[in-house]
Amino acid sequence: MLKTHDCGALTKDSIGQTVTLAGWVHAIRNHGGVLFIDLRDRSGIVQTVYSTPDTLKTAAAFSLEYVIQVEGVVRQRPQGTANDDLTTGAIEILANKTTLLNPATPSPFSIADKTIEAAEETRLKYRFLDLRRAKMQRAIRTRHEFVYAVREFMNKEGFWEIETPILTKSTPEGARDFLVPCRLHPGTFYALPQSPQIFKQILMASGMERYFQIARAFRDEDLRADRQPEHTQIDIEMSFVEKEDVFALVERMLGHTLGKVFAVKLPERFPRTTYQEIMDKYQSDKPDLRYPDILRRKFDDVFAKTGFKVFAAALAEGRSIYALTMPQAAEKISRSELDRSVATAKEMGAKGLAWIKFDGKGLESPIERFLSPEEKTAITERSRPGDILFFCTEDAPLTEKILNTLSKRLVEVLAIKPVTDLTLTWVTDFPLLEYNKEESRYQATHNPFTAPHAQDIPLLKTDPTKALSHQYDLVINGMEMGSGSIRNHRRQVQEELLGLMGHSKAQIEDRFGWLLSALEHGAPPHGGIALGVDRLVASFLGETSIREVIAFPKTQKGACPLSAAPSTVEDAQLKEVGLRLR
Ligand code: ASP
Repeated sequence: MLKTHDCGALTKDSIGQTVTLAGWVHAIRNHGGVLFIDLRDRSGIVQTVYSTPDTLKTAAAFSLEYVIQVEGVVRQRPQGTANDDLTTGAIEILANKTTLLNPATPSPFSIADKTIEAAEETRLKYRFLDLRRAKMQRAIRTRHEFVYAVREFMNKEGFWEIETPILTKSTPEGARDFLVPCRLHPGTFYALPQSPQIFKQILMASGMERYFQIARAFRDEDLRADRQPEHTQIDIEMSFVEKEDVFALVERMLGHTLGKVFAVKLPERFPRTTYQEIMDKYQSDKPDLRYPDILRRKFDDVFAKTGFKVFAAALAEGRSIYALTMPQAAEKISRSELDRSVATAKEMGAKGLAWIKFDGKGLESPIERFLSPEEKTAITERSRPGDILFFCTEDAPLTEKILNTLSKRLVEVLAIKPVTDLTLTWVTDFPLLEYNKEESRYQATHNPFTAPHAQDIPLLKTDPTKALSHQYDLVINGMEMGSGSIRNHRRQVQEELLGLMGHSKAQIEDRFGWLLSALEHGAPPHGGIALGVDRLVASFLGETSIREVIAFPKTQKGACPLSAAPSTVEDAQLKEVGLRLR
């Protein structure tokens, strides 16, 4: 090794020792007859001192981020110069020799500053510099520690880590596939896995019983705020289980690993709620239950006969009227904040946003004069003094987005205190299917391989959207951190479901024949889950973007500024795989 010690590891115990260190020039202070360099490696920073003519001359030529080697003696810092912010702050290295290992051109942003001003694009283009910053080093190390703890735990629980192919056949999880042309069979394509779903189920049919994988999943989606075209998941599948067995495993696993890495204490058992219960109360299957008093409710019944044109038109056009209710807000909220909320909704595509304040006695609202006495009474009965209600009448997905955005901002602006720091909830019993009007077919609400409740199987023939399923989500602080289900382990039910989802007999054979064949050869009952590594680590580190915990993330437009991917390829390469661009 070019070094005998790590910079950050030296303490008073090392005083008197001769050490060789190597690392980056983090800061330089030149006082003429004596020069100080803060030397950094991944373990931390230590102060090195140059005062002999030789070392002074060499060190004076160094600049920030030069890679150097320093040989010297550890000594106590002179009285009054100790730095309590550094673990090595009591000592320094008196250099007797220093060597330049590699110079560095000036960095486009500071590595040493705690906060960074550079645009994200610049940070990603020079990710090797960005990753040298203390905050990023911590994020990457923490991610490693978490994943390592997961592996340790799963191994102890008898799970085998099994790799599944990256070059594979399309596994529909509701997103578009990334395709890879196959040179050896012109005109054919591999798909990158949207998840290892079919393979992990086939592993259960193969008698593996307990599988896990730190798996990469690829989804060619339109990029939303914090999505990446590839993400990492803790992918799990177990044989001979019911959903409570999966829940218990995940509760133990997260309790152990998050406890170890983030020093948080999780409840031994996370609360469970059904999809129906949570939708009735919050109009969302992932409400942020740290704020249980923030409600989202449907008001269609109140306005069924309304004379207010905007609401009447929405109902006539088949849309619903949702209200976001913020507690203890009526007095605190300013006129300009109300205007800002309306403007935000409009920027996001809403035609408008109505608000109503309830002070305990009467209602105040720009739409008050359009409301009938009965409507006012109904709203009053459903409100608590101090509530403010925001009404949105866009189609359901846009309404959900708008209300999410508003509620996040208002929590901050109104300084609404969370009831608790951490909420973990299992949401169970999702509907199995929803109807896709445009394509005149049913589609899985989550995963096409989820099992319906046994007693609901007859509904598949009569009223399929009424059937409930063994699909579950894990929601932490309003974020979906995991999703899984008990699967169909019998061929016949799975085949019937795929038929309902609009696949013809021939398509079923072509797309899913390999899974169905495994099911009919004695597949055990099985189920599993996938938990998002990027999201878990980001959330417990208090980061709002998963890009902060991924070494080489893509931008929001799906590009990698460092490698400049995606990029065009040579004609010759296209020709080899039998492709011509349109
Ligand atoms: N395959 C699912 C997903 O990636 C997870 C699961 O059901 O196990 O979301």
